[in-house]
Amino acid sequence: MSTAVSRGTSPVPPARQPRLTVLSGPSGVGKSTVVAHMRKAHPEVWLSVSATTRKPRPGEREGVQYFFVDDGEFDKLVANGELLEWAEFAGNRYGTPRQAVLDRLEAGEPVLLEIDLQGARQVRESMPDAQLVFLAPPSWDELVRRLTGRGTESPEVIERRLAAAKIELAAEAEFDVTLVNTSVEDVARELLALLR
Ligand code: ADP
Ligand code: 5GP
Repeated sequence: MSTAVSRGTSPVPPARQPRLTVLSGPSGVGKSTVVAHMRKAHPEVWLSVSATTRKPRPGEREGVQYFFVDDGEFDKLVANGELLEWAEFAGNRYGTPRQAVLDRLEAGEPVLLEIDLQGARQVRESMPDAQLVFLAPPSWDELVRRLTGRGTESPEVIERRLAAAKIELAAEAEFDVTLVNTSVEDVARELLALLR
């Protein structure tokens, strides 16, 4: 008969490391929608607010969706090493303020970045433990419909974003996990589970 014996030597489980998760995917796939849906139910989930040279869309507020800066201010953020990563995307620059992210990780809180493929690659280089999540559209036609239907960009900008989307979709295999955005509710739930 075998008896389970506690020898008192079982190792203390390692403290869970706070995780940095990157959410990427082509423009119009629904990243902002999914994140907003998740944070409505779970406002405690912290999302990094990026700096961008893009002009605000109607309804976007300074310090909420982005810190809206001009080219000179963005240059300074880069020169002073204040960005964890940054990239030019479809004619504008976007970057993640470094200190806020480090403070959250230091405090043991999970961190979520919603950034483009170039940024995701930079994070993978500088923080190899980061979890990279790719949000994919159900189909190419549906992506075009969503990006066009959002109605926030000119036809020329939509073309630039669709050109970038082809490159981003081809890079899906670089990510740790793919979530297909068919249902916002389902994807928001899956993303929340990945953050925890
Ligand atoms: P991204 O942040 O990836 O650029 P958005 O969140 O702005 O994309 O979404 C683009 C458009 O697609 C919006 O009009 C949004 O309402 C719509 N959308 C997002 N997710 C879905 C979904 N699962 N089904 C249908 N439409 C969606
Ligand atoms: P949008 O103009 O639609 O808000 O964003 C355009 C693209 O820029 C999206 O793919 C979005 O994820 C990405 N983006 C937003 N913030 C950042 C950032 O700080 N860094 C990088 N690299 N990309 C970002």
